[in-house]
Amino acid sequence: MKLYPLFADLRGRAVLVVGGGVVAERKVAALLEAQALVRVAAPVLSSVLTAWADAGRIAVNRGRFVDTLMDDVWLVIAATSDKTLNARIAALGETRRIFVNVVDDASLSHFHVPAVIDRSPVTVAISSGGEAPMLARLLRERLEVWLDHAWGPFAALLGRTRDAIRARYRDPAARRRFYERVLSGPVLDRLRAGRSHEAEQWIDEALSGQPPSAAGEVILVGAGPGDPGLLTLRGLRALNEADVILHDRLVSDEVLALARRDAERIEVGKEAGNHHATQDTIHALMLRHAREGKRVVRLKGGDPFVFGRGGEELEMLREHGIAYQVVPGITAALACAAYAGIPLTHRHYASSARLVTAHSQLSNDALDWRALAQERQTLAVYMGVSELKNLQTRLIEHGRAGHTPFALVENGSRKAQRVVIGTLDQLDQRARDYAVRSPALLILGEVAALAERLAWFGDAPLGAETADSPRRNDTTVVSLAAQA
Ligand code: SAH
Repeated sequence: MKLYPLFADLRGRAVLVVGGGVVAERKVAALLEAQALVRVAAPVLSSVLTAWADAGRIAVNRGRFVDTLMDDVWLVIAATSDKTLNARIAALGETRRIFVNVVDDASLSHFHVPAVIDRSPVTVAISSGGEAPMLARLLRERLEVWLDHAWGPFAALLGRTRDAIRARYRDPAARRRFYERVLSGPVLDRLRAGRSHEAEQWIDEALSGQPPSAAGEVILVGAGPGDPGLLTLRGLRALNEADVILHDRLVSDEVLALARRDAERIEVGKEAGNHHATQDTIHALMLRHAREGKRVVRLKGGDPFVFGRGGEELEMLREHGIAYQVVPGITAALACAAYAGIPLTHRHYASSARLVTAHSQLSNDALDWRALAQERQTLAVYMGVSELKNLQTRLIEHGRAGHTPFALVENGSRKAQRVVIGTLDQLDQRARDYAVRSPALLILGEVAALAERLAWFGDAPLGAETADSPRRNDTTVVSLAAQA
C-alpha cells in the first residue's frame, strides 16, 4: 500500500476548490456534505455553483488564481483544465504543506479522493491507488448493491447501544460473539422492513439475557416474468439469504440460479383445476418451515399480488402469527408490454389499462363484458390461452370492434419469447395457427398495433400481414391517430 487511508473531519475547516465547471461542482457538493467551509476560485462559475454562491453556501473568488488564496486553507482541490495552473497549485501545496488533489492526475496529487459508498454513519471508501479509478467505480457499484440502505440505521442503532453492550460484555471476546450474533440475527432485516422498534427490541432482549426468539419469517417475492434482470435488488437479497425457497413453476431457472446455493428449493407448481389442494399444501409448507425458525422465500412469477394469491397467503400467515414481508415483482402485463414494444397506455390510443384474468367459466361469467369491450382502453388478459374463443366472441358481442388489434405474448421477456399479432376477429384462429402455449398474455386494444413498429426484443412479431405489404399497420396507426 503506497497510500495511507484516512477519513478527514472537515467540519468548519476551509477548503479551496480551484475551477468553476461541473467537475468542481461535484467536488464542492461532497465537501458541503462534509460541512467544510468551501471557497471556490474561478473566473466563471457553473449555474449550480452560482446558485450556491447566491445562497451563501460557498465563498467565491472570481479573479485569476493568486498564491494568497492558499494562505489559510486545509486542503485544495484543483479542478481546472489548465495543466500549468494545476501543476503550480500542486507545487505551492508542496512548499506550504497543504494537501492538494489535482483531479484526474494521480502523479500531481498529494491525496486521492476515493470512490465512496455512503451509509452514514458507515462510509466505505475504495481506492485503486490511482492505477484504475474505473475499477474502483465498478467495485463500488457492486458493493452498493450488497450494502443496502439498512446498514446506515443499523450502525446508528449499534452506536446508540454501544455503551450498554460494553457494560454487559466486558470481555472483548464475548463482545465480539455478541456482535456476530447481532450480525447474523434478524436486526438488519427488521430495519429493512421499516420496523426499527423491533430491531431495538431484539437488541434489548439479547442484552437482558433472554435468548431472543428465533422466529422464522416468510418473504413473498415477485420473481418477475423470467428475465433475471427484472428481479428487484430486494428480491435478490431475499433469495441470497433464504433457508427455504418455495417457488412456482412459472419462475424461470435463470432467476432460481441467483438464489443461495444451499437453500432448500421446493417447487410448488400448481396444476390447473387443482388449485385448492395445492394451495393448502403450500400454506402448510410455509408454516412448517417458518415455525422451525427458517427464512422462507415464497417466490412467485411476476408480482405476488397480481393474480398470485399473495393476499390469501398473507392472511394465513397473519392468522398464525408468522412475520412476513412482500417484495413486489414486475408483473406479466408490464413485462410483456415492454418486451413487445407495446405501451399499455398512450396519449392517442388508450387512456386506461385493465389487468384481467380469464381462466375459467366462473370468472368469465363474473366479468363486466360491456365495460371490458369499451374502446380506447387496453386489456391485459392473464391465463387466457384456453379461453380465447370465448373472449373473442363475448367482446365482439358487447361491442368491441372486430378490427381491434391484439398481441399475444408467449414467454414474455424470455429467450423463447414469441409475439403473435392480429385483430380481435382473428384472435382464436391466430393462436391456433401459431400454437400459442402458456404462459402467454393477451394484450388487446388500439395500442397493440404498435408492436409491429416498436418491437425490439427477440424475433419480429408473427402474423403481420407480410413484410412487403406493411401498409396495414401504417393505416391502422393512421386511422387510430385520426380517432384520437
Ligand atoms: N403473478 C403473476 C401472474 C400469475 S397468473 C404476474 O404478476 O405476472 C399466470 C399467468 O400470468 C399466465 O397464465 C400468463 O398469462 C401470465 N404470465 C406470467 N408470466 C408470463 C410470461 N413470462 N409471459 C407471458 N405471460 C406470462
